[in-house]
Amino acid sequence: MSNEHFVRNIASHDEEYSRWYTDVIYKAQLADWSLVHGCMVIRPYGFSLWENIQQLLDKRFKATGHQNAYFPLLIPESLLAKEAEHVEGFAPEVAWVTRGGQDDLEERLAIRPTSEAIIGETYSKWVQSWRDLPILINQWCNVMRWEKVTRFFLRTTEFLWQEGHTVHRTHEEAREEVLRMLGVYQDFVENELAIPVIAGQKTEQEKFKGALETFSIEAMMGDGKALQAATSHDLGQHFSSVFDIKFQDMDKEMKYAWTTSWGASTRLIGALIMVHGDESGLIFPPNVAPYQVVIVPIWRSDEEQAQVGAAAQQVQRQLGDFRVHYDGRDEYKPGWKFSEWEMRGVPLRIEIGPRDVAARQVTVVRRDTREKRQLPMDGLSATLGDLLREVQGDLLARARTFLSDNTVAASSLPELQEAIAARKFVWAHWCGRTQCELAVKEKTAATIRNIPFERDKAPGSCVNCGQPSTGPVLFARSY
Ligand SMILES: [Zn+2]
Repeated sequence: MSNEHFVRNIASHDEEYSRWYTDVIYKAQLADWSLVHGCMVIRPYGFSLWENIQQLLDKRFKATGHQNAYFPLLIPESLLAKEAEHVEGFAPEVAWVTRGGQDDLEERLAIRPTSEAIIGETYSKWVQSWRDLPILINQWCNVMRWEKVTRFFLRTTEFLWQEGHTVHRTHEEAREEVLRMLGVYQDFVENELAIPVIAGQKTEQEKFKGALETFSIEAMMGDGKALQAATSHDLGQHFSSVFDIKFQDMDKEMKYAWTTSWGASTRLIGALIMVHGDESGLIFPPNVAPYQVVIVPIWRSDEEQAQVGAAAQQVQRQLGDFRVHYDGRDEYKPGWKFSEWEMRGVPLRIEIGPRDVAARQVTVVRRDTREKRQLPMDGLSATLGDLLREVQGDLLARARTFLSDNTVAASSLPELQEAIAARKFVWAHWCGRTQCELAVKEKTAATIRNIPFERDKAPGSCVNCGQPSTGPVLFARSY
């Protein structure tokens, strides 16, 4: 199979983005579908992305004082139903267990769509005094939401995520936690995934059901659509009053605690694919790439094979600090391997042939720019470390340029419609009323992604009704 043939098995990134997305996921062996609609199998290459994401996020959670725990998968219906707005928001998506073995259950059990209820109920037993606070717990788990239209990583019936659930003595402390964790997500997504985001507050319409306020970070995908990369919720005292999380405060008064929750999921893998990929396939940022470096030996004779193979393995040993894969497969030609690893998004490829061995050097090719350079074998570990950092930084810079090139302002509804149709992020004034937000959604299919923290505060008039606004908000179509 020639290189051209290999790449032609992927739909065009620029012309058929949505097919390209599915094609690269299959071709790169990231995921597969199972027999249950919307339930995704994450293959080893895809799962190692998740493991890297987990490690880097988990480190940040622990550095901000959180511990991990695990709560049950099943939630009694009566418990879930306690918070009316919350249950109403999730009701259409909940999967139920109604039988255990041969018997019908007396009470249906929900498979968790999120864990506020089960965790809230547990916390009510743990919190009695202000001395028990704060509680700072995260759990890594799966959740289930019965989705009709599904898409690899972006919308699957069962998905993996983490959910942080914290309890605080004062609203001020809870509020600090909510914004701290949004900051943790922003730092992680920008610096590890090389994806620039816009942080802000969700509107009343788009907030988490049952929350006082929801904050999000929003990213721009390669087709100009938005993806909510993570959310952080100020739950106020809603859940503590419903689940009876109360404590005796320093002044001896009994008070309801203030709670928060925050989460990020395997959707982040979808974002990685869509933000960085190109016509030739995936491009992974070095910090989370399953393999940061792939070594492809080149030989024509048995004699060369022995010589090159030995040198290549010596290079591999030198690079023990990195995630390195040695591709010694005999049944594929080097050109085919180059094309495959390009498609699978490995940031750096090392080629070693007889001439390289003789010169004590290797040829290194960057996936993102295809730039080729010869580097001496001596000190290669340090040189590659620098190069990987450079690639990481360049990917973020490239994504930032794409985001700013595709963000515009609109001062009227026709302008907004036109910009949304052209797949842009659009700044436009909004009066703050849900009816106008819904009217715009109806006309453009765009939603208010968030009310960004950093925005021009100049007053203007709502693109829908013309009434005064306190500043522009961010509209876009979204995944
Ligand atoms: Zn309006």
